[in-house]
Amino acid sequence: MASEKKQCPDCRADMIEGFILDMTYGGQLVPRWLAGRPEKSMWTGVKAKGKECRSVATYRCVKCGLLRSYATTEADPPGLWGN
Ligand SMILES: [Zn+2]
Repeated sequence: MASEKKQCPDCRADMIEGFILDMTYGGQLVPRWLAGRPEKSMWTGVKAKGKECRSVATYRCVKCGLLRSYATTEADPPGLWGN
């Protein structure tokens, strides 16, 4: 079975999967990557509807602490950003 292990580009140590939690006044959000540029929306601040949206996994090097983010999995836009 091929392992999805990531290695730190700097020190070649293992990188472990995680994610960065976005703190908002509405609670906590897992970050999303969206295609294109942000467009203003009257209701939610930023328009997310109709854009390609992916969840973001961030890997951390166990040795030097470097963070690398990968937006590999398609996901729904965060609910806070409207229907
Ligand atoms: Zn490292």
